[in-house]
Amino acid sequence: MIHAVRGLADAALDLLYPPHCLACGTALQAGGWGVCCPACEERIVWIGADRCRRCGGPVAEGVGAADGCPACHSHPPAYVEQACALAPYEEPLRDVLLALKFGAGLRASDWLGERLAMRIFETELLQGIEGPVALVPVPLVRRDLGRRGFNQAEAIARAAAGYLKAGRRRISVEPGLLRKIRATAPQALLNREARRANLAGAFAADLKRAEAFLKGGGGGVVLVDDVMTTGSTVGECARTLHGVGLKAIRAAVVARG
Ligand SMILES: [Zn+2]
Ligand SMILES: [Zn+2]
Repeated sequence: MIHAVRGLADAALDLLYPPHCLACGTALQAGGWGVCCPACEERIVWIGADRCRRCGGPVAEGVGAADGCPACHSHPPAYVEQACALAPYEEPLRDVLLALKFGAGLRASDWLGERLAMRIFETELLQGIEGPVALVPVPLVRRDLGRRGFNQAEAIARAAAGYLKAGRRRISVEPGLLRKIRATAPQALLNREARRANLAGAFAADLKRAEAFLKGGGGGVVLVDDVMTTGSTVGECARTLHGVGLKAIRAAVVARG
């Protein structure tokens, strides 16, 4: 319902204020569905066949799908079996993600969600999972959610689920499986050890919901986030979900930092 209302609001806004490229501000063609102008979209270096299965990052040309890469070799994201990502965290994709975080709305989350769903198919991220799959957005602490009004990871997960449901799998978005129960310092300024300490105990899984999901034949979980840098956050989320019995935990992120 909220999405439908926001969709209408977005459409009305498009009429009043024709959309602009979220990266460079150029006016976009009316009636289009993209979020970047063609020149900016061309600058995004999408991760292709040469990728790390563990962290989703790019690997050297011609390597193909690798089981580890220099970026995650010594510390692959804990409890995450496999991951996929769309592109490195660089401009202009970074601008699109920042715009989404600060209110660019459905247009950006739909665009990113569609691409993430395609990436999940392409990389066969769900292979080996039997039964329903829960997409779990990396949560925000209540204070940040209140301030921002929405969780960008959840918006992307909901958009991706819409496209993934076109397949035969049962896919649901389950933000209730995982909560962030305390605020943490910004990860960007911390080293790996400090990041881990910063995140310890920051998330809590909902045991009842996890049991209900497993009882219903639930097979696996895909954590969804906008950016993954060292993988500490996604790893801590996965560890927390693993703690309530969830298995086959994977991750799909827009950008690999
Ligand atoms: Zn542009
Ligand atoms: Zn890797």
